[in-house]
Amino acid sequence: MLLTAIFLSLVAGSTRLEAETAQLTDVRVATQMAGFSGTGYVTDLTKDASQLTWSAKLPKGIYDLVVGYSAPNGEKGFDAVVDGFGLSGMLPRTAASANASFARVTVGRVEVNKPTTQFVVKKGWGYYDLDYIELLPSAKSPRLVRPPATLSDSNATPAARRLFRRLVAAYGNGMFSGQYDAKENNHVQAKTGKMPAVFGNDFMDYSPSRVARGGIPRGETERTIARAKAGQMVTYSWHWNAPKDLIDAEITENGRTVDARWYKGFYTNATTFDVQKALADPSGEDYKLLIRDIDVIAAELKKLAKADVPVLWRPLHEAEGGWFWVGAKGPAPCKQLWLLMRDRLISHHKLHNLIWVWNSVRPEWYPGDDSVDIIGADLYPADRRDATASTWDDLFSRFNGKKLLALTEYGQAPEVDRMLRFGVRWSYFVSWTGPLGASAMKDEDLRRVYTSRKVFNVK
Ligand code: CA
Repeated sequence: MLLTAIFLSLVAGSTRLEAETAQLTDVRVATQMAGFSGTGYVTDLTKDASQLTWSAKLPKGIYDLVVGYSAPNGEKGFDAVVDGFGLSGMLPRTAASANASFARVTVGRVEVNKPTTQFVVKKGWGYYDLDYIELLPSAKSPRLVRPPATLSDSNATPAARRLFRRLVAAYGNGMFSGQYDAKENNHVQAKTGKMPAVFGNDFMDYSPSRVARGGIPRGETERTIARAKAGQMVTYSWHWNAPKDLIDAEITENGRTVDARWYKGFYTNATTFDVQKALADPSGEDYKLLIRDIDVIAAELKKLAKADVPVLWRPLHEAEGGWFWVGAKGPAPCKQLWLLMRDRLISHHKLHNLIWVWNSVRPEWYPGDDSVDIIGADLYPADRRDATASTWDDLFSRFNGKKLLALTEYGQAPEVDRMLRFGVRWSYFVSWTGPLGASAMKDEDLRRVYTSRKVFNVK
């Protein structure tokens, strides 16, 4: 294996940094498991202080970061810091066989622009073994092909078509900025003099099972319409409180107390409502409750339609994570619910102001090209300056020339110029709120992002 490493170095200009040669903190070197490269691998990556550090001299440039590792117990989160810039990625589960214990995977891209570069691998999720990291000069980014500027709803309104054409025309040249929540939007404007191109909101509080307990939300849709009239694009998600069967109590999960009261009713662990069962019986009460809830949201979407406001509509978001009840029974019922919602909103309610944003990225969750306009990824890397290259590369290889890709939720605001240098070209980003919103950023960082020539705001 050592010979292989040297061969690779000569041929491809790659540099392999063996884990066992790093400066080690709170980990240990092992050799029991066969198949490692070099003279061993690092194990016991389990403590918060566990880390490996290397210094290496590499030519300036962008590199793919490849990780040699073993994770037979399940996929693990990987965290590294390269010259101070954080990079998060995923290590897929490896085979549990004694002969094929190690695997390699590209976790993202890093930039080298100093004579000596410091590489640090942190614990991440821990509980995996690290054999090596390897730096491969990054291939030039493949050509971005803009998707057709046609919407999945063939009767889409002229305003929805215009908005989509605008997104497609700018795709690859830079990114539209976006921010959830009115206060956060105002913060961006106060600190940067710019208004985010996209205003994000959520129909959560309109869910009937919340209204029944928490009172009626007043004026939120109207305030969003005012935002659109002032020039912002509008995106909506819907934290859909389960129609019924809320647990509405504190529960104990794995020895921890978890708040599963009614206002957490969009979470899987806060309801016993079964989406699969509900969909299986169109004459049953549960199915009718799904329709009832969709109809309530339709009434709000109609206000937006009446005001001629197109909506980047992102329901059933993050379903593949399983933490929301709409995704708790796997991809099949979730895709069925997506198509049911589409049919109800488009055919029954005649809502043609919607641009349909699908927000699960795994292939088995995809409901199909003809029901989706934009693919969204929700990313919360440990360092907001992360270039998010691994998720981008995965989606780009599947959807280039077919669908727009967007960062539909992001922890704070990304460093767009850096992303573009790395070949990462999301259509837009929408920052989340609170500690994950613009207001948690340093003013100078926020200003740098929002005044970039590559970031498109409300003009
Ligand atoms: Ca090794």
